[in-house]
Amino acid sequence: MLKQTKEYLAEAFGITEKEITCVQTSEVACCQTFQKIDAISEYNQAKVLKALQEEQIAARHFSPSTGYGYDDIGRDALERVFTRVFGCEDALVRPQIASGTHAIALVLFGLLLPNDEMLSITGKPYDTLEESIGIRGEAFGSLKQYGISYKQVELTSQGEIDLEMIKQSIHKKTKIVYIQRSRGYSWRESLSIEQIQRAIIEIRKVKQDVIVVVDNCYGEFTDIQEPIQVGADVMAGSLIKNPGGGLAPTGGYIAGTKICIGKIANRLTSPGIGREVGSYAAMYTPFFQGLFLAPHVVAQALKGMVLAAHVYQEQGFTVLPSFDASRNDIIQAIQFKTKEQLIAFCQAIQSASPIDSHVTPEPWDMPGYEAQVIMAAGAFVQGASIELSADAPIKDPYIVYMQGGLTYEHVKLAVMITLKNIIVKEI
Ligand SMILES: *Cc1c(COP(=O)(O)O)cnc(C)c1O
Repeated sequence: MLKQTKEYLAEAFGITEKEITCVQTSEVACCQTFQKIDAISEYNQAKVLKALQEEQIAARHFSPSTGYGYDDIGRDALERVFTRVFGCEDALVRPQIASGTHAIALVLFGLLLPNDEMLSITGKPYDTLEESIGIRGEAFGSLKQYGISYKQVELTSQGEIDLEMIKQSIHKKTKIVYIQRSRGYSWRESLSIEQIQRAIIEIRKVKQDVIVVVDNCYGEFTDIQEPIQVGADVMAGSLIKNPGGGLAPTGGYIAGTKICIGKIANRLTSPGIGREVGSYAAMYTPFFQGLFLAPHVVAQALKGMVLAAHVYQEQGFTVLPSFDASRNDIIQAIQFKTKEQLIAFCQAIQSASPIDSHVTPEPWDMPGYEAQVIMAAGAFVQGASIELSADAPIKDPYIVYMQGGLTYEHVKLAVMITLKNIIVKEI
């Protein structure tokens, strides 16, 4: 680090030599892990570049559309580029898909009919999907209300997919096998592409025609392949996470086989109309450019989380994953010893944000959660978690889930600021 930088960090952020030394020592230790992340990013950058070139993307594809959006060439080209990048047959990539939850719910409602069953093989799905499925609350129009049943198989205590239990749980009604790649906000490992592949091979031996759906949120571009390329039928995610590269202002994607995507398109708009409509009166540029940046931005976020893991591991906290683990999502969990540390950490992340740095997050009673929750997010795109952010329920064990970071430099700076708030205070 430049002498001038150190002086400036001290003056502008009150960062002392102590925090700098701590983070720089970790940075050296993380060197090999960083190289692995860069190698993945290099591959994915090439993949995205090639897809843009093959589709001959030009300025005309950025143009907005209005009304029904028939023959919206920007929308259609964007979907073809995603199809190539993800190595699938077809994709829906739309600003009208409001979030990751919406994308996944579209998949489920698009593919399941009354009397079908959905089997989750990675335990309980992400919180926000519980009401769509009908395993929490009594929301009108849940899968349950349509007579679609749900079962789940937990991961083993080692965090592996429990193939024996799954084989016993698949029967005639089982239409969808559901996999969540990322840890989401639970204290477990994310699943590797190899683990997903092995599971799909075994599952198909039991039931050839089962539809394998992957919640791919937070997983895109963390490896050189995506779940679709190892046998999944459909995967879905959010554009304000990894594949939007920090630029996409909203939206979600669904990628998979032609047959599945066709059915889901009927749910996206209406049966019979499918994918043919849907206009966007703003420019498509941030979706294309965001995808172009996504491999690099994901690598920046991953390296930032590796650094945070090492720093906090060295400070004596339990972290998951470890700094040197291979990563299949952009989330870093850190377990603090006290509630005060947890809150101080989130407040420090907020204060280190480019946007809303002047506000102080406090724990609050968030609807649907039993414990209070504290959230730190100071993002350009509201709620975007490819930007540096941190969330924590206020309950023992005191675990913060942090993710994102558009630039490694920013995450590094933020980690120094959190250290100043926590360690220096505690010692
Ligand atoms: C974020 C996320 C979702 C839901 O996405 P939203 O955009 O927040 O609705 C679902 N599953 C996982 C694993 C996620 O990380």
